[in-house]
Amino acid sequence: MLTQPRVVIVGGGISGLATAHYLHRRLGADVQLSLVEGGTRLGGKIATERFGGHLVDVGPDALMVRAPAAAALVEDLGLGEFVVAPAGSGARIWSRGALRRLPAGTLFGIPDRLLPLMKSRLLSPLGLARAALDIVLPARSSLPADPTIAELVRPRMGRQVFDRLVDPLLGGVHAGRADELSARSTAPDIEALGRDNRSLYLGLRRRRRNAPPKPAGAPGGAALVTFSGGLARLIDALADRVAGDDVRLGSAAVSVSREGSGTGYLVALADGTVIPADAVVLATPAFVAAGLVAAEAPDLAAALGGIPYVDVATICLAYPRSAVAHDLDGTGFLVPPEEGRLIVGCTWSSVKWPHLADENTVLIRCMVGRRRDQRWVSLDDDTLVSQVHAELVEAMGLTGRPTEHHIERWLQGMPQYVVGHEARLAAAEEALVRLPGIHLTGSAYRGVGLASCVADAERTAGRIAQVLSDAQVLSDTRARSEASA
Ligand SMILES: Cc1cc2nc3c(=O)[nH]c(=O)nc-3n(C[C@H](O)[C@H](O)[C@H](O)COP(=O)(O)OP(=O)(O)OC[C@H]3O[C@@H](n4cnc5c(N)ncnc54)[C@H](O)[C@@H]3O)c2cc1C
Repeated sequence: MLTQPRVVIVGGGISGLATAHYLHRRLGADVQLSLVEGGTRLGGKIATERFGGHLVDVGPDALMVRAPAAAALVEDLGLGEFVVAPAGSGARIWSRGALRRLPAGTLFGIPDRLLPLMKSRLLSPLGLARAALDIVLPARSSLPADPTIAELVRPRMGRQVFDRLVDPLLGGVHAGRADELSARSTAPDIEALGRDNRSLYLGLRRRRRNAPPKPAGAPGGAALVTFSGGLARLIDALADRVAGDDVRLGSAAVSVSREGSGTGYLVALADGTVIPADAVVLATPAFVAAGLVAAEAPDLAAALGGIPYVDVATICLAYPRSAVAHDLDGTGFLVPPEEGRLIVGCTWSSVKWPHLADENTVLIRCMVGRRRDQRWVSLDDDTLVSQVHAELVEAMGLTGRPTEHHIERWLQGMPQYVVGHEARLAAAEEALVRLPGIHLTGSAYRGVGLASCVADAERTAGRIAQVLSDAQVLSDTRARSEASA
């Protein structure tokens, strides 16, 4: 082992950067860090562009600061003064020709109050009666070991709750379909609710009554926030923390292999450079990590390659205010798959985020693409903008065309925690036992949101720091006993 251990981090998204940050927090300057990023900038999916006269996020647009790791990171990086909480609240669902309010107090669309659900007119009277049946239906006889969200919700609350509430919410967050996503891996709260309660409705009400007070999150209690200047501010602050390290942009890793018979590894880059490492963090999408270790560990590559991804895109549109007669009361809307639309979710960005408010322009951001609906991929930019605009006209009654647009295509952008995800992770962990020093972190594994990526990065850095410190103690002890012999 080197006197100053060297860690190579592959991937400069939030996961790789946060791992580097926490490694320095744990080990200070006692570690040599190399961060290799295949693209020409840091940030990965976090991308902030100048659009419509503002700095607009074209990847993720909100950070969950109610999650302790994310809140701590914001404080640690001194970003508190830049935090922006959303101005609007409440989403709508575009269902059967109208933008209907999402009833308050749902857990991923599962309702715990019947009156707001009734008032939303999202369900037909029959659908409402079917949802209420959950209260009296007998307990289910058995559940699969790793049930889908559909298997937990549909038999209890019926098709309409599932199709018009649960599925669109999961589409908006995961670009996934609730009849494929593992409840345990994607929405553990739903899995616990379904396993521990006969009735979802009553279980949810009980859960709310007994819930401890929520952590404060941002000032004003906002759970999801951004920063003035967009989420790029988070990346810039993390990039500052690694400024003294060996950071290489435009340097794609092509393989990771063992260094001879020793405990170290070699990270080979596309330009032919090879970096020796005591530990390697793979903070890339899972399919990239699979390719990097394919020759060294086919079993690990097989487990990682089994994690599916979905292509999504964000389409930002700037409309003259005169073209928008809609009240824009809320943050935007989600679209159930049963509607057959291209738009999966729409954010009224200049209403949701105060720093994007503009007297003359309304900024709207749409997401397209979800599992089993990849129609958008084959559309050229003009057609994509026209089709999304046409749907917005229908949903919101817009009367003018956008003056500006920006399309960001995120091919294989969203990992899907489909049934069997936990088993795939277990297989990967098992394979990693034979590769001590290789670590996996990122959105493919233990949470797709930025906050989960940050928490996973902190755990990864903690594990590496522990191993390196133990090895250092061992080598110091050896050196002392050799000196005294
Ligand atoms: C459209 C969209 C909207 C989203 N909205 C939200 C949201 O509002 N809130 C939220 O919390 N989450 C959101 N997410 C999820 C979140 O953005 C991601 O899960 C998170 O950014 C993933 O970070 P990461 O670092 O794990 O991966 P990435 O950001 O994908 O970073 C991986 C990095 O590895 C690099 N790389 C790839 N191959 C190589 C190689 N061979 N060598 C070196 N480098 C390589 C890539 O270039 C990239 O920079 C959204 C995602 C998308 C796509």
